[in-house]
Amino acid sequence: MAEDLSQDFSLGEVQVASSPQERFEEYLQSKGQRITQQRRALVECVFEKHEHFDADELLEMVARHAEGASVSRATVYRTLDELVKAGLLRKMDLGGRAVYEHDYGYPQHDHLYCQQCHKLIEFRSEELMEIRDAVAAKHSFRVTGHRLIVSGVCEECSQKRHRRHSPLDLI
Ligand SMILES: [Zn+2]
Ligand SMILES: [Zn+2]
Repeated sequence: MAEDLSQDFSLGEVQVASSPQERFEEYLQSKGQRITQQRRALVECVFEKHEHFDADELLEMVARHAEGASVSRATVYRTLDELVKAGLLRKMDLGGRAVYEHDYGYPQHDHLYCQQCHKLIEFRSEELMEIRDAVAAKHSFRVTGHRLIVSGVCEECSQKRHRRHSPLDLI
């Protein structure tokens, strides 16, 4: 039943032929560039686990990496740009803050975004995709992708706020 289907918001998996590192090297080669030690350390760091991060957080992550200790801020920004252009990362604008996440090898998904703690909750909805494709078809529009970010307040943050205003606090 359609109702059961809509209850599954899990992301699933995508199989890819080459590693992010290989894919990035191919991209750089096509631009007549080579992968440097610094870039390699950054890519390793970025693709260790799926996260949402900004440039500052990546700088901190890479500083903890043995090989990446000497990576400069300028290199981080430049490599992030290259990773987006190579189709490995996706960039989102969250209230003026640039946040990155894996695109290559990671399933299409959408986000709930908490405006208080900046947490992102990922979900995937087949119904949403059907609506998207139906609207696109109506306009003879060729879809290359989409990103829906639902803004609001997460459960934890709304509980915190609720507790603060609770009359029980006065007892
Ligand atoms: Zn929150
Ligand atoms: Zn995400």
